[in-house]
Amino acid sequence: MQLIWFRQDLRAADHAALWHAAQAGACIATVFISPEQWARHDEAPAKGIFYLRQLESLKAQLNALNIPLIIQHIPLWKDIPNALRQLCLELKISCVHANIEIGVNELKRDFQAQQALAQRNIALELHHDRTIFPVGTILNQSNQPYQVFSAFKKRCYERLSLGLPGCYPPAEKQEKMPLSQSHFNAQAEAAQLYPDHAAHLLQALWPVTEHYALELLDQFVQDDLDRYKAQRDFPALEATSQLSPYLNIGAISIRQCLQAVFRQQQGHFHINNASQQTWLDELLWREFYQHILFHYPAISKHQPFKISTQKLQWRDAEQDLSAWQQGQTGIPIVDAGMRQLLQTGWMHNRVRMITAMFLSKNLLIDWRLGEKWFMQHLIDGDLAANNGGWQWCASTGTDAVPYFRIFNPVSQSQKFDPDGDYIRKWVPELAHLDAKRIHEPYAGKHDPALDYPQPIADLSLSRKRAIEAFKAI
Ligand SMILES: Cc1cc2nc3c(=O)[nH]c(=O)nc-3n(C[C@H](O)[C@H](O)[C@H](O)COP(=O)(O)OP(=O)(O)OC[C@H]3O[C@@H](n4cnc5c(N)ncnc54)[C@H](O)[C@@H]3O)c2cc1C
Repeated sequence: MQLIWFRQDLRAADHAALWHAAQAGACIATVFISPEQWARHDEAPAKGIFYLRQLESLKAQLNALNIPLIIQHIPLWKDIPNALRQLCLELKISCVHANIEIGVNELKRDFQAQQALAQRNIALELHHDRTIFPVGTILNQSNQPYQVFSAFKKRCYERLSLGLPGCYPPAEKQEKMPLSQSHFNAQAEAAQLYPDHAAHLLQALWPVTEHYALELLDQFVQDDLDRYKAQRDFPALEATSQLSPYLNIGAISIRQCLQAVFRQQQGHFHINNASQQTWLDELLWREFYQHILFHYPAISKHQPFKISTQKLQWRDAEQDLSAWQQGQTGIPIVDAGMRQLLQTGWMHNRVRMITAMFLSKNLLIDWRLGEKWFMQHLIDGDLAANNGGWQWCASTGTDAVPYFRIFNPVSQSQKFDPDGDYIRKWVPELAHLDAKRIHEPYAGKHDPALDYPQPIADLSLSRKRAIEAFKAI
């Protein structure tokens, strides 16, 4: 008997571990719910609830394949190896299949599970699934990992031109098993684990099933991909795929995304237009950061990639941090982004960059505090991408923005939200202002009638302060 151990890969289609398990024989599936561990990783309640909802839908899908799913509550991962071994002994499992996860704690968990199972002659087979290329296989001519995105991307293009990774064939329905399954209701589970969180709001904003994620992908590729390059930086246009939450819990696979992009080229790697290439490059940024995390695990232990930046003198400024977190900085585009995050669990990529740079440069507050806050609120929170994004903005990361190239949030706002529609949506107290004033409501004069904070930082002076701080190291 084979056991499929699902983790951040909650889908039945194109699933490496499921496919390998089904090839080997009859399968049972398991998932461990570990809320304490998730909290230690700063995983957002929004993401936890999203995960539970997708889990309910996966259960139904596996049911249709006659694969029973056993769900257990194991608060901390340190207790998983024993629980897994116990389960395997009860079910007479000969081999456990799971997809590789590359975080430090994930690798430790899997290593310990492998050892615990080996004591009873049970194998744990780990399969490559989450990235386009297996981590550790994209290396330069000196057999070293790439640290610069453009070179990494070039190598990926070469590999893709040899053939796109195909999706696994759908699993076949197996014989029914006389095994009693635990009842699982995502809503009840979410209410218990996250009592203060409005799960129903998220449900409306972020529907989730595997089928829905595939529809979202198809619709994006058919209707929106062509305008992606031109419009992706304009937050009010909602011209990006919004697939990140689905990719991160594995409701959809990276191979399905690639295959959808190149469907019109019959699955061949042939770039047709600039938008296609730009979207592919974004998928490769995701890939890059996953490979970086694998090669440089220290970055997940609060270390900057550029060690010299460890000496940077960050400001201890609790009030400023709190104003940033709550979207009360007095810089409209920053506040719009931070409020979008609080209300939806998601933020547009351009605005993530603006808000992250404002915190780490203008406010000169340690990027790790911003990274943590994002992780605690993002429905698509992902250690590799979040850390990569933050270290890029803070100029502490690999291939990061040079420290002296600091975005001016007001110019960014004028450029990427020219009519102020994005600001109007998330900062309603400024909605009545015209397209010129909305980016900088107090420019030139104070307006006591506005119920909106004064900017907490002078953009020009704070920019100089950040450059000096970086120069000092
Ligand atoms: C400070 C900061 C923090 C971030 N934190 C996260 C995070 O926790 N989780 C996360 O998935 N992304 C993160 N990103 C990357 C990016 O903002 C999101 O992936 C993107 O906004 C998701 O929207 P989308 O699905 O519409 O993307 P699209 O533009 O449609 O792109 C398609 C997919 O490519 C990947 N992708 C796109 N841009 C990036 C990028 N810059 N880095 C890595 N992958 C990318 C995502 O998987 C995304 O779903 C962060 C970026 C910054 C600047």
